[in-house]
Amino acid sequence: MVRDVVVFPDRRLKRVCVPVGTPGPAARRLARDLIDTAASFPRTTGIAAPQVGELWRMCFIDCTGNPRVPDPLGPVVMVDPVLTHYAGDEVGREGCLSLPQVTANVQRGTEIGVRYLDPEGRRHEVVASGFEARVILHEMDHLDGILILDRVRSLSLDVFPRVRRSGRQRGKGGTSRHG
Ligand SMILES: [Zn+2]
Repeated sequence: MVRDVVVFPDRRLKRVCVPVGTPGPAARRLARDLIDTAASFPRTTGIAAPQVGELWRMCFIDCTGNPRVPDPLGPVVMVDPVLTHYAGDEVGREGCLSLPQVTANVQRGTEIGVRYLDPEGRRHEVVASGFEARVILHEMDHLDGILILDRVRSLSLDVFPRVRRSGRQRGKGGTSRHG
């Protein structure tokens, strides 16, 4: 089910989300809603549970088809994700479904490892790099109530009004929304 996206300055976006633990039917329903809601926005590479108003540690990422990710993990729901590795340092432009009017320059790691459960409760550990690592770190930030505006070095120099890009196709220029 496509859910309404919570937008800044809604206070739910600033909360630290609680662990899911063992995913049950409600967690699997939320996973499907995250997938459906992400799919309803073009060029979206991810979404986190608090963005649909659910304060659980769960997010969905999918960089499939993004030219900056040659070997994507594919669509992945991450339940209770934890970083196992973090290295590198790069500034890149990010958008966010919950901040529809702006993009921002955010400093992130470039090589990460993540451990998580899938909605069926199976354990996984993956590595990601570059843009895909950025997407995962953006979504994991949401689970701790951290937005891109909290990550910029300067609110005046690193935040930009979002340019309308009507008529452009997915992946052809423009800034992806990281969810
Ligand atoms: Zn976001």
